[in-house]
Amino acid sequence: MYNEQQAKTEMQRYGRSMFERGLTGGASANISVRTATGFIISPTNSCIGFLELHELSVLDKEGNWLSGEKPSKEFALHKAFYDQRPQDHAVVHLHSTYATALSCLDVPETELFPPLTPYLYIRLGHVARVPYFSPGDQELADAVQAVTASTAGVLMENHGPIVSAATLASAMYAIEELEESAKLTIILKNQQCRDIPSQKVNELLVKYGHKLAE
Ligand code: ZN
Repeated sequence: MYNEQQAKTEMQRYGRSMFERGLTGGASANISVRTATGFIISPTNSCIGFLELHELSVLDKEGNWLSGEKPSKEFALHKAFYDQRPQDHAVVHLHSTYATALSCLDVPETELFPPLTPYLYIRLGHVARVPYFSPGDQELADAVQAVTASTAGVLMENHGPIVSAATLASAMYAIEELEESAKLTIILKNQQCRDIPSQKVNELLVKYGHKLAE
């Protein structure tokens, strides 16, 4: 479990890294960590590349704002992961280009990520997709909350990806893998690909503790 100081330092470090590598622009992203006493989230309208420790929003266990700048309006989305996934202590939401592009494509959810490489299955298992609602709407948080018990990776239609993990480092790795998988999916669209056999996909899901597809 993170303490407040450690959480803030990691948020600053990983936020800067993701921003400097072009994974998200402007004030589009938000990141949070669950601590022993509540949550810390990037402030509303802030850039994760330039987070100041004293500005980070500190919330209690119910999500009430205690100190720092005003919290991101997307906190309800983050809470939708924390409530369903007691094993996870960090949430990352980006508007990374390829995953966001994929969130706009009109394809069946089962065909969202074709089985091209093993790594998304290792990190996240199956990624769920939720319908479009305006950013900050409670309906969006409710839609995310409905799927997070069975997956730590969600793609919000016409919006972008959000993931949770045990640590901020592993949440960053997971959303990077989601972005890379989306990139491969789009680069290889309409090309003759060799898919990983479904039996091998299931073996990966079981080995890494993810839910099998229904
Ligand atoms: Zn967003």
